[in-house]
Amino acid sequence: MAVKLPIYLDNHATTPCDPRVVQAMLPYFTEVFGNAASRNHAFGWQAEEGVENARAAIAKLIGATPKEIIFTSGATESNNLAIKGVAEMYREKGNHIITEATEHKAVLDTCKRLEKYGYEVTYLPVQKDGRIDLDDLRKAITPKTILISIMYANNEIGVIQPVSEIGAIAREKGVFFHTDGVQAAGKIPVDVQKDNIDMISLTAHKMYGPKGVGALYVRRRNPRVQLSAILDGGGHERGMRSGTLNVTGIVGFGKASEICMNEMPVESARLMKLRDRLKDNILSQLDEVYINGSMTHRLPHNMNMSFAFVEGESMLMGINDIAVSSGSACTSATLEPSYVLKALGVGEDLAHTSIRFGIGRFNTEEEIDYVTGRVVETVVRLRELSPLYEMAKEGMDLSKMQWNTH
Ligand SMILES: *Cc1c(COP(=O)(O)O)cnc(C)c1O
Repeated sequence: MAVKLPIYLDNHATTPCDPRVVQAMLPYFTEVFGNAASRNHAFGWQAEEGVENARAAIAKLIGATPKEIIFTSGATESNNLAIKGVAEMYREKGNHIITEATEHKAVLDTCKRLEKYGYEVTYLPVQKDGRIDLDDLRKAITPKTILISIMYANNEIGVIQPVSEIGAIAREKGVFFHTDGVQAAGKIPVDVQKDNIDMISLTAHKMYGPKGVGALYVRRRNPRVQLSAILDGGGHERGMRSGTLNVTGIVGFGKASEICMNEMPVESARLMKLRDRLKDNILSQLDEVYINGSMTHRLPHNMNMSFAFVEGESMLMGINDIAVSSGSACTSATLEPSYVLKALGVGEDLAHTSIRFGIGRFNTEEEIDYVTGRVVETVVRLRELSPLYEMAKEGMDLSKMQWNTH
Protein backbone atom coordinates (compact mmCIF):
# COMPACT_ATOMS: atom_id res chain seq x y z
CA MET A 1 0.00 0.00 0.00
CA ALA A 2 1.37 3.39 -0.95
CA VAL A 3 1.82 5.95 1.80
CA LYS A 4 0.10 9.30 1.57
CA LEU A 5 2.50 12.21 1.05
CA PRO A 6 3.69 14.44 2.58
CA ILE A 7 4.35 12.56 5.81
CA TYR A 8 4.09 14.49 9.07
CA LEU A 9 6.95 13.68 11.45
CA ASP A 10 7.14 16.99 13.30
CA ASN A 11 5.00 16.17 16.33
CA HIS A 12 7.17 18.21 18.72
CA ALA A 13 6.15 21.36 16.84
CA THR A 14 2.45 20.60 17.00
CA THR A 15 0.10 17.65 16.71
CA PRO A 16 -3.14 17.26 14.76
CA CYS A 17 -6.33 17.32 16.81
CA ASP A 18 -7.57 13.84 17.60
CA PRO A 19 -11.02 13.48 15.92
CA ARG A 20 -12.45 12.50 19.33
CA VAL A 21 -11.24 15.86 20.66
CA VAL A 22 -12.99 17.70 17.82
CA GLN A 23 -16.22 15.79 18.51
CA ALA A 24 -16.10 16.78 22.17
CA MET A 25 -15.56 20.44 21.26
CA LEU A 26 -18.25 20.84 18.61
CA PRO A 27 -21.32 21.41 20.85
CA TYR A 28 -19.46 24.19 22.66
CA PHE A 29 -19.32 26.42 19.59
CA THR A 30 -23.04 26.65 18.94
CA GLU A 31 -25.13 25.04 21.68
CA VAL A 32 -23.20 25.36 24.91
CA PHE A 33 -21.77 28.75 24.03
CA GLY A 34 -22.25 30.47 27.40
CA ASN A 35 -19.62 32.42 29.28
CA ALA A 36 -18.32 30.16 32.03
CA ALA A 37 -18.31 33.17 34.34
CA SER A 38 -22.05 33.85 33.87
CA ARG A 39 -23.43 32.78 37.23
CA ASN A 40 -27.12 33.44 36.83
CA HIS A 41 -28.31 31.30 33.93
CA ALA A 42 -28.09 27.80 32.50
CA PHE A 43 -25.93 28.84 29.52
CA GLY A 44 -23.21 29.89 31.94
CA TRP A 45 -23.63 26.87 34.21
CA GLN A 46 -23.32 24.41 31.33
CA ALA A 47 -20.20 26.10 30.02
CA GLU A 48 -18.76 26.08 33.52
CA GLU A 49 -19.50 22.38 33.85
CA GLY A 50 -17.57 21.71 30.63
CA VAL A 51 -14.63 23.72 31.96
CA GLU A 52 -14.64 22.00 35.34
CA ASN A 53 -14.74 18.52 33.79
CA ALA A 54 -11.72 19.48 31.68
CA ARG A 55 -9.93 20.92 34.69
CA ALA A 56 -10.40 17.62 36.52
CA ALA A 57 -9.10 15.57 33.57
CA ILE A 58 -5.99 17.73 33.21
CA ALA A 59 -5.35 17.64 36.96
CA LYS A 60 -5.64 13.85 36.94
CA LEU A 61 -3.09 13.54 34.14
CA ILE A 62 -0.39 15.11 36.36
CA GLY A 63 -1.50 14.03 39.83
CA ALA A 64 -2.84 17.46 40.84
CA THR A 65 -6.17 18.67 42.21
CA PRO A 66 -8.53 20.60 39.88
CA LYS A 67 -8.24 23.86 41.82
CA GLU A 68 -4.51 23.92 41.08
CA ILE A 69 -5.03 24.20 37.30
CA ILE A 70 -4.97 27.73 35.83
CA PHE A 71 -6.03 28.02 32.19
CA THR A 72 -3.92 30.15 29.84
CA SER A 73 -3.51 30.73 26.10
CA GLY A 74 -0.69 28.16 25.83
CA ALA A 75 2.65 27.21 27.29
CA THR A 76 4.35 30.45 26.28
CA GLU A 77 1.95 32.28 28.56
CA SER A 78 2.20 29.60 31.27
CA ASN A 79 5.99 29.91 31.32
CA ASN A 80 5.75 33.71 31.48
CA LEU A 81 3.18 33.56 34.27
CA ALA A 82 5.17 31.08 36.37
CA ILE A 83 8.48 32.89 36.12
CA LYS A 84 7.35 36.53 36.15
CA GLY A 85 4.65 35.71 38.69
CA VAL A 86 7.13 34.27 41.20
CA ALA A 87 9.71 36.96 40.43
CA GLU A 88 7.32 39.78 41.29
CA MET A 89 5.59 38.07 44.23
CA TYR A 90 8.78 36.99 45.99
CA ARG A 91 11.00 39.99 45.17
CA GLU A 92 11.50 40.70 48.88
CA LYS A 93 12.84 37.20 49.43
CA GLY A 94 15.36 37.27 46.60
CA ASN A 95 16.13 38.08 42.99
CA HIS A 96 17.92 34.95 41.77
CA ILE A 97 16.52 32.45 39.27
CA ILE A 98 18.17 29.27 38.01
CA THR A 99 17.37 27.85 34.60
CA GLU A 100 19.20 25.93 31.90
CA ALA A 101 20.81 26.67 28.52
CA THR A 102 18.57 24.34 26.48
CA GLU A 103 15.20 25.69 27.64
CA HIS A 104 12.52 26.79 25.20
CA LYS A 105 12.71 30.47 24.23
CA ALA A 106 9.55 31.14 26.24
CA VAL A 107 11.64 30.47 29.36
CA LEU A 108 14.98 31.91 28.20
CA ASP A 109 13.56 35.17 26.89
CA THR A 110 11.38 35.61 29.97
CA CYS A 111 14.49 35.25 32.12
CA LYS A 112 16.39 37.69 29.90
CA ARG A 113 13.69 40.27 30.36
CA LEU A 114 13.83 39.85 34.13
CA GLU A 115 17.59 40.47 34.00
CA LYS A 116 16.77 43.92 32.63
CA TYR A 117 14.72 44.56 35.75
CA GLY A 118 17.52 43.66 38.16
CA TYR A 119 17.02 39.93 38.55
CA GLU A 120 20.00 37.60 38.36
CA VAL A 121 19.73 34.47 36.29
CA THR A 122 22.01 31.42 36.23
CA TYR A 123 21.83 29.48 32.97
CA LEU A 124 23.11 26.00 33.84
CA PRO A 125 25.08 24.26 31.10
CA VAL A 126 24.16 20.72 30.05
CA GLN A 127 26.38 17.67 29.79
CA LYS A 128 27.08 15.93 26.50
CA ASP A 129 23.92 13.84 26.94
CA GLY A 130 21.77 16.97 27.31
CA ARG A 131 21.07 16.63 31.04
CA ILE A 132 22.08 19.11 33.71
CA ASP A 133 24.64 18.14 36.35
CA LEU A 134 22.87 18.06 39.73
CA ASP A 135 26.04 19.27 41.47
CA ASP A 136 25.99 22.37 39.25
CA LEU A 137 22.41 22.95 40.39
CA ARG A 138 23.24 22.53 44.09
CA LYS A 139 26.20 24.91 43.79
CA ALA A 140 24.15 27.54 41.98
CA ILE A 141 21.56 27.88 44.76
CA THR A 142 22.10 30.92 47.03
CA PRO A 143 20.01 32.45 49.84
CA LYS A 144 18.64 34.80 47.15
CA THR A 145 17.35 32.00 44.90
CA ILE A 146 13.56 32.09 44.54
CA LEU A 147 12.97 29.82 41.54
CA ILE A 148 14.42 26.86 39.66
CA SER A 149 12.97 26.48 36.16
CA ILE A 150 14.18 23.35 34.39
CA MET A 151 12.19 21.75 31.58
CA TYR A 152 10.86 18.21 31.90
CA ALA A 153 11.80 17.07 28.39
CA ASN A 154 13.47 18.96 25.59
CA ASN A 155 11.59 19.79 22.42
CA GLU A 156 14.54 19.22 20.05
CA ILE A 157 16.41 16.24 21.44
CA GLY A 158 13.69 14.70 23.62
CA VAL A 159 16.07 14.43 26.57
CA ILE A 160 14.34 14.02 29.93
CA GLN A 161 15.89 15.92 32.85
CA PRO A 162 16.31 14.34 36.32
CA VAL A 163 13.09 15.99 37.44
CA SER A 164 12.61 13.93 40.58
CA GLU A 165 16.09 14.79 41.85
CA ILE A 166 15.68 18.46 40.96
CA GLY A 167 12.38 18.54 42.85
CA ALA A 168 13.99 16.98 45.91
CA ILE A 169 16.83 19.52 45.88
CA ALA A 170 14.43 22.43 45.43
CA ARG A 171 12.23 21.23 48.28
CA GLU A 172 15.19 20.71 50.60
CA LYS A 173 16.45 24.25 49.89
CA GLY A 174 13.01 25.87 50.10
CA VAL A 175 13.10 27.09 46.50
CA PHE A 176 10.12 26.83 44.12
CA PHE A 177 10.48 24.40 41.21
CA HIS A 178 8.82 25.18 37.88
CA THR A 179 9.09 22.84 34.92
CA ASP A 180 8.09 23.31 31.28
CA GLY A 181 6.23 20.03 30.89
CA VAL A 182 4.92 20.58 27.36
CA GLN A 183 6.76 17.70 25.69
CA ALA A 184 6.35 15.24 28.56
CA ALA A 185 2.73 15.55 29.69
CA GLY A 186 0.47 13.03 28.03
CA LYS A 187 3.48 11.14 26.64
CA ILE A 188 5.19 9.82 29.77
CA PRO A 189 3.89 9.61 33.36
CA VAL A 190 4.11 12.98 35.16
CA ASP A 191 3.35 13.24 38.88
CA VAL A 192 3.65 16.62 40.58
CA GLN A 193 3.43 15.05 44.06
CA LYS A 194 6.06 12.38 43.59
CA ASP A 195 8.48 14.81 41.95
CA ASN A 196 7.88 17.87 44.18
CA ILE A 197 6.91 20.02 41.22
CA ASP A 198 5.43 23.37 42.30
CA MET A 199 4.44 24.60 38.84
CA ILE A 200 4.23 22.89 35.46
CA SER A 201 3.42 24.45 32.07
CA LEU A 202 1.21 22.52 29.64
CA THR A 203 -0.29 23.14 26.22
CA ALA A 204 -3.08 21.30 24.41
CA HIS A 205 -1.70 21.42 20.87
CA LYS A 206 1.31 19.22 21.65
CA MET A 207 -0.98 16.44 22.89
CA TYR A 208 -3.59 16.17 20.12
CA GLY A 209 -5.71 19.07 21.37
CA PRO A 210 -6.40 22.49 19.84
CA LYS A 211 -3.92 25.38 19.53
CA GLY A 212 -4.15 28.45 21.73
CA VAL A 213 -5.07 26.82 25.02
CA GLY A 214 -2.74 25.83 27.83
CA ALA A 215 -2.51 25.54 31.57
CA LEU A 216 -0.26 26.21 34.49
CA TYR A 217 -0.39 23.94 37.51
CA VAL A 218 0.16 26.05 40.63
CA ARG A 219 0.65 24.13 43.89
CA ARG A 220 -1.83 25.07 46.64
CA ARG A 221 -0.26 23.42 49.67
CA ASN A 222 3.10 22.19 50.97
CA PRO A 223 4.14 24.76 49.89
CA ARG A 224 1.47 27.16 48.67
CA VAL A 225 2.68 29.09 45.62
CA GLN A 226 1.39 32.61 45.08
CA LEU A 227 1.79 34.38 41.78
CA SER A 228 1.48 38.00 40.72
CA ALA A 229 -0.82 38.12 37.71
CA ILE A 230 0.42 39.34 34.34
CA LEU A 231 -3.09 40.18 33.08
CA ASP A 232 -5.32 42.31 35.29
CA GLY A 233 -9.06 42.26 34.87
CA GLY A 234 -12.05 40.25 36.00
CA GLY A 235 -10.13 38.09 38.44
CA HIS A 236 -10.77 34.77 36.71
CA GLU A 237 -8.71 31.69 37.59
CA ARG A 238 -8.22 32.59 41.27
CA GLY A 239 -7.04 36.05 40.25
CA MET A 240 -3.97 34.67 38.50
CA ARG A 241 -5.26 34.95 34.94
CA SER A 242 -8.09 37.30 34.06
CA GLY A 243 -9.98 36.94 30.80
CA THR A 244 -13.05 35.06 29.55
CA LEU A 245 -12.19 31.38 29.37
CA ASN A 246 -11.74 29.71 25.97
CA VAL A 247 -14.43 27.19 26.85
CA THR A 248 -14.31 25.30 23.54
CA GLY A 249 -10.53 24.99 23.63
CA ILE A 250 -10.54 23.99 27.28
CA VAL A 251 -13.09 21.23 26.64
CA GLY A 252 -10.84 19.94 23.84
CA PHE A 253 -7.80 20.12 26.12
CA GLY A 254 -9.67 18.07 28.73
CA LYS A 255 -10.67 15.42 26.21
CA ALA A 256 -7.10 15.28 24.87
CA SER A 257 -5.79 14.74 28.42
CA GLU A 258 -8.28 11.98 29.09
CA ILE A 259 -7.29 10.15 25.88
CA CYS A 260 -3.57 10.52 26.62
CA MET A 261 -4.08 9.26 30.17
CA ASN A 262 -6.01 6.17 29.03
CA GLU A 263 -3.84 5.30 26.06
CA MET A 264 -0.37 6.29 27.25
CA PRO A 265 1.01 2.83 28.11
CA VAL A 266 0.03 1.33 24.75
CA GLU A 267 0.77 4.43 22.71
CA SER A 268 4.22 5.12 24.13
CA ALA A 269 5.26 1.49 23.60
CA ARG A 270 4.05 1.61 19.99
CA LEU A 271 5.81 4.91 19.25
CA MET A 272 9.03 3.75 20.85
CA LYS A 273 8.98 0.68 18.64
CA LEU A 274 8.54 2.87 15.56
CA ARG A 275 11.28 5.23 16.76
CA ASP A 276 13.71 2.36 17.33
CA ARG A 277 12.83 0.84 13.97
CA LEU A 278 13.67 4.17 12.31
CA LYS A 279 16.90 4.57 14.26
CA ASP A 280 18.12 0.99 13.84
CA ASN A 281 17.36 0.85 10.11
CA ILE A 282 19.15 4.14 9.48
CA LEU A 283 22.17 3.16 11.57
CA SER A 284 22.46 -0.23 9.90
CA GLN A 285 22.55 1.31 6.42
CA LEU A 286 24.61 4.45 6.98
CA ASP A 287 27.89 5.22 8.73
CA GLU A 288 28.92 8.59 10.19
CA VAL A 289 25.52 9.17 11.77
CA TYR A 290 25.45 10.63 15.28
CA ILE A 291 22.59 10.57 17.77
CA ASN A 292 22.14 13.83 19.67
CA GLY A 293 21.24 13.51 23.34
CA SER A 294 20.85 10.64 25.77
CA MET A 295 19.22 7.46 24.46
CA THR A 296 18.28 6.24 27.96
CA HIS A 297 16.69 9.45 29.26
CA ARG A 298 14.62 10.23 26.22
CA LEU A 299 11.02 10.62 25.12
CA PRO A 300 9.83 7.44 23.38
CA HIS A 301 8.76 9.27 20.21
CA ASN A 302 11.83 11.43 19.60
CA MET A 303 14.93 10.91 17.50
CA ASN A 304 17.54 13.55 16.66
CA MET A 305 20.45 12.60 14.41
CA SER A 306 23.30 14.33 12.60
CA PHE A 307 24.39 13.05 9.20
CA ALA A 308 28.05 13.92 8.66
CA PHE A 309 29.31 14.85 5.18
CA VAL A 310 26.05 16.06 3.80
CA GLU A 311 24.94 19.62 3.40
CA GLY A 312 21.99 20.52 5.63
CA GLU A 313 19.88 22.36 3.12
CA SER A 314 20.42 19.79 0.38
CA MET A 315 19.44 17.12 2.87
CA LEU A 316 16.12 18.83 3.64
CA MET A 317 15.48 19.42 -0.06
CA GLY A 318 16.15 15.75 -0.70
CA ILE A 319 13.47 14.65 1.75
CA ASN A 320 10.98 17.43 1.08
CA ASP A 321 8.02 15.06 1.06
CA ILE A 322 8.61 14.53 4.79
CA ALA A 323 7.86 17.17 7.43
CA VAL A 324 10.69 17.24 9.96
CA SER A 325 12.72 19.95 11.69
CA SER A 326 16.39 20.61 11.13
CA GLY A 327 19.16 21.71 13.46
CA SER A 328 19.28 25.10 11.82
CA ALA A 329 17.10 28.03 12.69
CA CYS A 330 16.48 30.75 10.19
CA THR A 331 17.34 34.02 11.93
CA SER A 332 17.16 36.91 9.45
CA ALA A 333 19.06 35.92 6.32
CA THR A 334 21.52 33.46 7.85
CA LEU A 335 21.12 29.91 9.08
CA GLU A 336 22.11 29.62 12.73
CA PRO A 337 22.88 26.23 14.24
CA SER A 338 20.44 25.21 16.97
CA TYR A 339 21.45 26.60 20.39
CA VAL A 340 20.32 23.34 21.96
CA LEU A 341 22.75 21.25 19.90
CA LYS A 342 25.45 23.86 20.50
CA ALA A 343 24.92 23.52 24.27
CA LEU A 344 25.51 19.76 23.88
CA GLY A 345 28.85 20.49 22.22
CA VAL A 346 27.71 19.46 18.74
CA GLY A 347 29.88 21.26 16.15
CA GLU A 348 28.38 23.74 13.74
CA ASP A 349 28.63 21.50 10.67
CA LEU A 350 27.01 18.54 12.37
CA ALA A 351 24.31 20.77 13.88
CA HIS A 352 23.36 21.99 10.39
CA THR A 353 22.94 18.41 9.17
CA SER A 354 20.86 17.24 12.09
CA ILE A 355 17.24 16.22 11.82
CA ARG A 356 14.57 15.96 14.48
CA PHE A 357 12.06 13.19 13.95
CA GLY A 358 8.92 13.59 16.06
CA ILE A 359 6.72 10.52 15.77
CA GLY A 360 3.07 10.80 16.74
CA ARG A 361 -0.24 9.04 17.31
CA PHE A 362 -1.19 8.93 13.64
CA ASN A 363 2.08 7.69 12.14
CA THR A 364 2.24 4.15 10.77
CA GLU A 365 5.00 1.61 10.28
CA GLU A 366 4.69 2.04 6.49
CA GLU A 367 5.40 5.75 6.90
CA ILE A 368 8.43 5.09 9.08
CA ASP A 369 9.84 2.67 6.51
CA TYR A 370 9.23 5.14 3.71
CA VAL A 371 11.04 7.85 5.69
CA THR A 372 13.96 5.53 6.40
CA GLY A 373 14.29 4.75 2.69
CA ARG A 374 14.18 8.41 1.69
CA VAL A 375 16.74 9.45 4.32
CA VAL A 376 19.15 6.67 3.39
CA GLU A 377 18.96 7.25 -0.36
CA THR A 378 19.34 11.01 0.07
CA VAL A 379 22.38 10.73 2.34
CA VAL A 380 24.03 8.19 0.03
CA ARG A 381 23.41 10.40 -3.00
CA LEU A 382 24.74 13.56 -1.32
CA ARG A 383 27.81 11.78 -0.02
CA GLU A 384 28.67 10.59 -3.52
CA LEU A 385 29.15 14.28 -4.28
CA SER A 386 31.29 14.91 -1.20
CA PRO A 387 35.09 14.81 -1.62
CA LEU A 388 35.43 15.06 2.16
CA TYR A 389 33.45 11.89 2.70
CA GLU A 390 35.63 10.09 0.18
CA MET A 391 38.80 11.28 1.93
CA ALA A 392 37.46 10.22 5.31
CA LYS A 393 36.65 6.79 3.89
CA GLU A 394 40.20 6.51 2.60
CA GLY A 395 41.37 6.84 6.18
CA MET A 396 42.47 10.45 6.36
CA ASP A 397 42.00 12.17 9.68
CA LEU A 398 40.27 15.35 8.54
CA SER A 399 40.67 17.02 11.90
CA LYS A 400 44.45 16.98 11.40
CA MET A 401 44.41 18.36 7.88
CA GLN A 402 45.91 21.71 6.99
CA TRP A 403 43.45 23.70 4.97
CA ASN A 404 44.59 26.24 2.46
CA THR A 405 42.37 29.17 3.24
CA HIS A 406 43.38 32.17 1.13
C1 LIG B 1 5.74 24.30 22.01
C2 LIG B 1 6.48 24.55 23.26
C3 LIG B 1 6.22 25.70 24.05
C4 LIG B 1 5.25 26.77 23.61
O1 LIG B 1 3.94 26.36 23.71
P1 LIG B 1 2.76 27.22 23.04
O2 LIG B 1 1.52 26.64 23.59
O3 LIG B 1 2.90 27.01 21.58
O4 LIG B 1 2.96 28.65 23.44
C5 LIG B 1 6.90 25.83 25.23
N1 LIG B 1 7.80 24.91 25.63
C6 LIG B 1 8.08 23.82 24.92
C7 LIG B 1 9.08 22.83 25.43
C8 LIG B 1 7.44 23.61 23.71
O5 LIG B 1 7.75 22.53 22.99
